[in-house]
Amino acid sequence: MTLEGEGFLVHRPLPQGNLRQFDPFLLLDEMGPMELAPGEAKGAPDHPHRGFETVTYMLAGRFEHRDSQGNSGRLEPGDVQWMTAGAGVIHSEMPEKEFARTGGRMHGFQLWVNLPKKDKMARPKYQDVRAEKIPVVENKDGVKVRVIAGEALGAKAVIDTHTPIMYLHFTIKAGARVAQPVPKNYNVFAYVVEGEGAFSTAKRVAKRGQMVMFGNDGDEVEITAKTDLDVLLIGGLPLNEPMARYGPFVMNTKEEIQQAIEDYQSGRMGKIIV
Ligand code: MN
Repeated sequence: MTLEGEGFLVHRPLPQGNLRQFDPFLLLDEMGPMELAPGEAKGAPDHPHRGFETVTYMLAGRFEHRDSQGNSGRLEPGDVQWMTAGAGVIHSEMPEKEFARTGGRMHGFQLWVNLPKKDKMARPKYQDVRAEKIPVVENKDGVKVRVIAGEALGAKAVIDTHTPIMYLHFTIKAGARVAQPVPKNYNVFAYVVEGEGAFSTAKRVAKRGQMVMFGNDGDEVEITAKTDLDVLLIGGLPLNEPMARYGPFVMNTKEEIQQAIEDYQSGRMGKIIV
């Protein structure tokens, strides 16, 4: 477990030990699931990002964000925010006021997706997608999928990505199975949100909170639900570029990191004015 922001606990399967990244993925945090008492919800006050994207996916609870460009918005259960930090934003990610007051169940994910060298200094951009706009497909075999990025069961995501990315949330009934095609050369991992499943040729069953990584030489991932199963299946084309990383800045060289720190400290990434 890791403490983030004002001190909320997250489960961070990536990075882990010697695994600094799973190119192009830099980090995966799971917030909760937890039951928050009134006034107990915490968030991450003003902080910067440069050189990558943050993808926030809420399953329970409500958050709001505000940034140095004057953007603000709210995330409710099922909503996705795909934020391209690019050249830099300073933002806050806080529990929505009413949710903080009442407390309740909180569960969500944040994935960091690296940007290729050519896009690291791109203009910051948000794709705020409400739950009802995320394509959902359910087949007669007991498999349901929410298509956040990429394609699955004939549905295509509404979110644009800088490099080819797949982000799927499968809900699979006990005993059901799905074979998800995976584009060639993608680095792919599964993260079990709830239940137990068997993945492709892996011998062991993976359970809630575990991550399964796949070699990039296959063309599909097979998932068999041992119990009712909720799983994220995430993949992308590796960038294969040098990485320099310091906290919220991910660039290609140490000099670019130094520049990011200077730009942040001198206020060139802007300020949040409430
Ligand atoms: Mn952030």
